Amino acid sequence: MSMQNKVAVITGAASGIGKNIAKVFFDNGAKVAIADLDFKAAEAVARELDRSGERAMGVAMDVTSEAQVEAGIAAVAAQFGGIDILVSNAGIQIVAPMESYDFANWKKMLAIHLDGAFLTTRACLKLMYAKGSGGSVIYMGSVHSKEASMLKAPYVTAKHGLIGLCKVVAKEGAAHGVRANVICPGFVRTPLVEKQIPEQAKALGISEEAVIKNVMLKETVDGEFTTVDDVAQTALFLASFPSNALTGQSIVVSHGWFMQ
Ligand code: NAD
Repeated sequence: MSMQNKVAVITGAASGIGKNIAKVFFDNGAKVAIADLDFKAAEAVARELDRSGERAMGVAMDVTSEAQVEAGIAAVAAQFGGIDILVSNAGIQIVAPMESYDFANWKKMLAIHLDGAFLTTRACLKLMYAKGSGGSVIYMGSVHSKEASMLKAPYVTAKHGLIGLCKVVAKEGAAHGVRANVICPGFVRTPLVEKQIPEQAKALGISEEAVIKNVMLKETVDGEFTTVDDVAQTALFLASFPSNALTGQSIVVSHGWFMQ
């Protein structure tokens, strides 16, 4: 599947990993919808990519809201003519030890990561099936789809859950030429991670340098962060792969932190 004129919706694309995926898809000829809770920032990213608005649009979307997801995906399809690629990427992190993890925060985490993936997938699949030209669904997992870390109970639970959802979508989508895969990045220095460094330092009683060296990058082969571009290139590969041969998979991009 070439990216030329394909329509891609990327959630959480006003910042970090999603923003760079939108840029790389756009640079490779796709029409991109930058869907985010922060509509102002999403619009700014869209205008930065394409002042004319012909191939980039911002969409106001809280991925936990059924109504907003349905309306947002419909607006993209109306503007760009269907949906070919979904990158379900919006996510947050709230760290705390399990014995005192706040129940409201647990539910919020699962809603953004899992309800968001469910709602956006359902809305996009209907349109992909109707158009009949296949499609690619990409979930933003994490090394935490495969491994656990302390203080991250709902994040690890949700990221593992995305692999299950992906496998079901791969099976159901196959007859329609729709593939589903998960990208599992190691630590990437986005606002989501910058926020965690002092939080983890406090929770673990160690310095911020120690969090980076001895917690975040300890198991990598080279002590390096994964970059937004490493993840975007993987997304491009998955989005443009031409057949059902590559479906139901999870690809770990983590400087060897986790090896399959
Ligand atoms: P980020 O904080 O830079 O960006 C996340 C974006 O999601 C923000 O623009 C935010 O406004 C948006 N968002 C938050 N809640 C939303 C909601 N309810 N509806 C719509 N949009 C919402 O974070 P990032 O690091 O780019 O993370 C993106 C994804 O990558 C997340 O799913 C995260 O779990 C995953 N991930 C990140 C890392 C990392 O190290 N940064 C590693 C592995 C996986």
